[in-house]
Amino acid sequence: MDYLTWLLIAIALCGFMAYSRASLGTFTIAFTLLMILGTSLQILSFFSWLLFAIIAIPLNVADLRKKYISSPLLAMFRNIMPEMSRTEKEAIDAGTTWFEAELFRGTPDWKKLHNYPKPTLSSEEQAFLDGPVEEVCRMTDDWQTTHELADLSPEVWQFLKDNKFFAMIIKKQYGGLEFSAYAQSRVLQKLSSVSTVLSSTVGVPNSLGPGELLQHYGTQEQQDYYLPRLVKGEEIPCFALTSPEAGSDAGAIPDYGIVCHGKFNGEEVLGMRLTWNKRYITLAPIATVLGLAFKLQDPDHLLGEEEDLGITCALIPTDIDGVITGRRHFPLNVPFQNGPTQGEDVFVPLSFIIGGPEMAGQGWRMLVECLSVGRAITLPSNSTGGIKSLALATGAYSRIRRQFKIAIGKMEGVEEALARIGGNAYLMDAVTTMSTGAIDMGEKPSVISAIAKYHLTEKMRNCVADAMDIHGGKGICMGPSNYLARGYQGAPVAITVEGANILTRSMIIYGQGAIRCHPYVLAELSAANNQDQRQALNDFDHALFGHIGFAISNICRSVWFSFTGSYLLTAPYPDQTRRYYQLMTRFSSNLAMLSDIAMLTLGGDLKRRERISARLGDILSYLYLASATLKRYNDEGRQSADLPLVQWAVEDSLYQVQQAIDELINNFPNRIVAKMLRLIILPLGCWLEKPSDRTDHKVAALLQYPNDTRSRIGQGQYLTREPENVLGQLEQTLEDIIACEPIFEKICRELGQRLPFYQLDLVAQKGLEAKIISAEEAELLTKTESARKATINVDDFDSNYLKAGQC
Ligand SMILES: Cc1cc2nc3c(=O)[nH]c(=O)nc-3n(C[C@H](O)[C@H](O)[C@H](O)COP(=O)(O)OP(=O)(O)OC[C@H]3O[C@@H](n4cnc5c(N)ncnc54)[C@H](O)[C@@H]3O)c2cc1C
Repeated sequence: MDYLTWLLIAIALCGFMAYSRASLGTFTIAFTLLMILGTSLQILSFFSWLLFAIIAIPLNVADLRKKYISSPLLAMFRNIMPEMSRTEKEAIDAGTTWFEAELFRGTPDWKKLHNYPKPTLSSEEQAFLDGPVEEVCRMTDDWQTTHELADLSPEVWQFLKDNKFFAMIIKKQYGGLEFSAYAQSRVLQKLSSVSTVLSSTVGVPNSLGPGELLQHYGTQEQQDYYLPRLVKGEEIPCFALTSPEAGSDAGAIPDYGIVCHGKFNGEEVLGMRLTWNKRYITLAPIATVLGLAFKLQDPDHLLGEEEDLGITCALIPTDIDGVITGRRHFPLNVPFQNGPTQGEDVFVPLSFIIGGPEMAGQGWRMLVECLSVGRAITLPSNSTGGIKSLALATGAYSRIRRQFKIAIGKMEGVEEALARIGGNAYLMDAVTTMSTGAIDMGEKPSVISAIAKYHLTEKMRNCVADAMDIHGGKGICMGPSNYLARGYQGAPVAITVEGANILTRSMIIYGQGAIRCHPYVLAELSAANNQDQRQALNDFDHALFGHIGFAISNICRSVWFSFTGSYLLTAPYPDQTRRYYQLMTRFSSNLAMLSDIAMLTLGGDLKRRERISARLGDILSYLYLASATLKRYNDEGRQSADLPLVQWAVEDSLYQVQQAIDELINNFPNRIVAKMLRLIILPLGCWLEKPSDRTDHKVAALLQYPNDTRSRIGQGQYLTREPENVLGQLEQTLEDIIACEPIFEKICRELGQRLPFYQLDLVAQKGLEAKIISAEEAELLTKTESARKATINVDDFDSNYLKAGQC
């Protein structure tokens, strides 16, 4: 063996050890053996050993390593470490990490993904969906709700209260339904088929609010008093955090409380004087109990040493003197109950603090912890339910509506938009199922809930715009038969609430993801903050060298995957999905590498470079969306008929990952580093493409005739064939139109005429007269003609009816 061969073996060994994330000890032993081999073959000199010793000894002798490497680096780290406020720290600490951490760390374990149990409904949950949920869908008239009453009808309100719709999260011991997160999601999805006012009204009390806060942090007395009353609908809750001066920056609320003595119900008690001015509060106009967030101050030290206790949450009955509620905002013609509330120097006892006086100052932690869960359920489910229903409705409409003598859904331009709706409907359902499944496994997935909230509400907004385009004027003219326009109008509400989307994408997903999912950064930060210097150095040393090994490994893996095209990677299934797993593992390693390099080169500045952080978040997010899609495909028995949907959803996600990487490198501040990154990750440029026209065509076709795949897209939605249910009627009409087509063709053929596909009742008469069709066939054509007209017709009104206040 000559020196060159030895050197190549050494490089290969180093690459392999780094690729497989060998420990420093294993690495040193393996290299020592290689050095011995080189010496025995007389190709290594004394100087090679000297060089090896200079590198290996300080790295492997802990005391030397800490003194000469870790200690100075710890000092440097403390200098560049980004400053973190208490609210930021509590937000980062909130919740848990789950499969997204696998994706962040570069070596996702696909078996683990597929072994997570598939969420299912209990018989009680299923019965609720088939009973009360079905019934309230039947009762709700969205046009009456949005245009005439600007509220749900009194009957619907009463039905919701009587059937415990506001108590899905409340434990059975208090009389609540105690449904799984998955079941809550299915309920909200179904409600959103008929009305976003209905799904929002039910979603909010079951999300972040008094019910959730009380169950986690309330005193026994508070739980025993409020929870049974919330279950029966005797109390309507709302939660007020946002104020005119503090929207996204909710930690900066100016609302305050002063600890003081005062009289309450005739008794002298220790309490607080509260002053607040809140806006945008859902259910505030009709709430009986106001969950209030404010900053508590104790200037007279009645509670202890601290003067500024911090954000605190209390429950304030709205019938107390000085509490102002009742006025309403008008959110985008989707008039769910939402409005401002104020109070000035309202005195309440300290026992009104959720969890009692000892929870003073713990409000922000309580809120962000609950948000980690709630954010993954309500808005993602409402968005998913809406798009699932729209996918079916738009598919049906595209088949029924004809122009230029063919169904519009057969036109390639329409197919492109239809495919986006179908592919995203499949993906969105996969994401809500997997994310709520994680919650039911006991996770509080803060990063996943931000991903689901941002991406599913964005997809909803884009898909509803696509559906509007496909429907043309039918989508624009509002009235009882329009099933689209309110969803389109209301889309920005979901974008804005529970963390406005630009902020969620720019700061939260990656900001929280990087620190929570990274195997070493949190440990490094904690070590740097540790006042015990000895412990700090030990912990930092451990995390730092783990981090260095991790970073080297990800660089080696990225180089190897680019070099081999990642074709050598194993995948859990050797079918059409194989390549997807290979690419996802490759991009996952790229993300781990990019993330470390961004942190290393930008340091604390990364927090301000939101567009870098947004793109890193996009990579993580789209990998998560694709993982959920593959899991759904597997959980549903790998139905080959669903493959076009899987292909569309995964290929679109992977394309977005590539775009995010490309844009990130293009805009990376350090241009030399950027060039190296491009060489390692995209040496041949961007090669992945959007889903092909062929895939688009297959997805669009699937939406336009009844089939099992289409039924799986719409599973659980309110599609009952009832006269008042426009979507149910549309499903019936789709079936009838398809049944009519061969009859129509027979008549044209026999008559030797190319008739237009309308006035089917007249076509039926011609067919009967010429004895081409039977009486049943004629009846079907006649019945279908009126349903076809109902589908393409729009509402019109007496002009007085549309004037405000006329109905
Ligand atoms: C219909 C509706 C219902 C609501 N219900 C409730 C409720 O029940 N209880 C409650 O307390 N609140 C509620 N809210 C408040 C909601 O959570 C806030 O609207 C939200 O936090 C955003 O605040 P803002 O609207 O003031 O926007 P702003 O904070 O003014 O933000 C404006 C824009 O700046 C962006 N932005 C802000 N900071 C950053 C940043 N650092 N980086 C990048 N972009 C940033 C935002 O993404 C947004 O696009 C509701 C709001 C609405 C509209």
